[in-house]
Amino acid sequence: MPRIAVIAGDGVGREVIPAAVRVARAAAGDRLEWVEFDWNADYYLRHGAAMPPDGLEQLRRFEAILFGAVGDPRITTHDYAAGLLLKMRFGLDLYANLRPVRPLDDRLCPLRGIRGDEIDFVVLRENTEGPYAGMGGNFKTGRGEEVAVELDINTRLGVERIQRLAFEMARQRSRRRLAMADKSNAMPHAHGLWLRVFRELQPQFPEIEARHYYADALAYQLVRDPRQFDMIVTTNLFGDLLTDLAAALQGGLGMAASGNLHPGRMGLFEPVHGSAPDIAGRNLANPIGAILSAALMLDFLGLDAAARRVEASAAAAVREGVATPDIGGNWGTAECAAWIEKRLRSA
Ligand code: ATP
Repeated sequence: MPRIAVIAGDGVGREVIPAAVRVARAAAGDRLEWVEFDWNADYYLRHGAAMPPDGLEQLRRFEAILFGAVGDPRITTHDYAAGLLLKMRFGLDLYANLRPVRPLDDRLCPLRGIRGDEIDFVVLRENTEGPYAGMGGNFKTGRGEEVAVELDINTRLGVERIQRLAFEMARQRSRRRLAMADKSNAMPHAHGLWLRVFRELQPQFPEIEARHYYADALAYQLVRDPRQFDMIVTTNLFGDLLTDLAAALQGGLGMAASGNLHPGRMGLFEPVHGSAPDIAGRNLANPIGAILSAALMLDFLGLDAAARRVEASAAAAVREGVATPDIGGNWGTAECAAWIEKRLRSA
């Protein structure tokens, strides 16, 4: 039986993850085993580390991780996030960040003249390289002549595996068009590699219409008319920016889901939003981003029928006005999740 590690983490993670677990359990029945971990800010403050020394070893025994958020006003050092979420992303080599963008309801799309159901694309973001690899340094810190460097790391292995996965996913999911975004015009060395690899892979997938964009042009096109996209693959940094823009197209951060994958090995699924300390602990957080992340996880585990039922029930909630304040309703986190769970059980 597939085993899921549940790490609610901090802030609203502690509200939206229990909500997502109850909905996913209602859809998957007893086909999954759930194990909770208390790795959060309290744990860090008690132990001086975000997880035990053998934390990654413990997680490797699971098929998937359902994660909430990391962040606490009491902790200002980068150590904590680096020791939890980033440690899992890098340590488990979760190289592909998957972000589906499909507004659940027309009302949620902010663009004039474009219906929500006309937007349906997936962004695949490289998740372990780029300027987020942590290679860099400061020299003459704090002085007028200070030098600050953050290296943009792009390896052939890293670039090729994310782009190949994008082509393969496009093929599997019958997504005909694949867009790749880089800045090879301004960064010819690092991003020239992205473009060369894209051109090399293209002939192996003749049924896919592969199109290259500069990342700034892609951002422009995403707002001008997102209906033209099926699947997008891009670098870690540009993926970070473009997927926040994409979250706005689907109703905001509370609605957006993500998966961090090493296909065939492990997946970590998390809502796109953070710990949201401004609303935490008040039953105000939108649980749908977390619920849709759990649906992505069900898909990853091969329970696709259960995943579709979760998505349909979440869409029904939004359609019928069962909504938290961020999307214009007045329902609480727990009540919204309970409504979705009840609909699932009775459908
Ligand atoms: P982080 O650095 O962890 O991403 P952040 O504060 O920059 O933290 P979020 O925690 O995602 O980012 O919050 C950004 C804004 O979105 C906040 O105003 C927050 O209240 C709102 N928000 C985030 N998640 C939700 C949610 N699930 N429901 C409603 N509002 C949310």
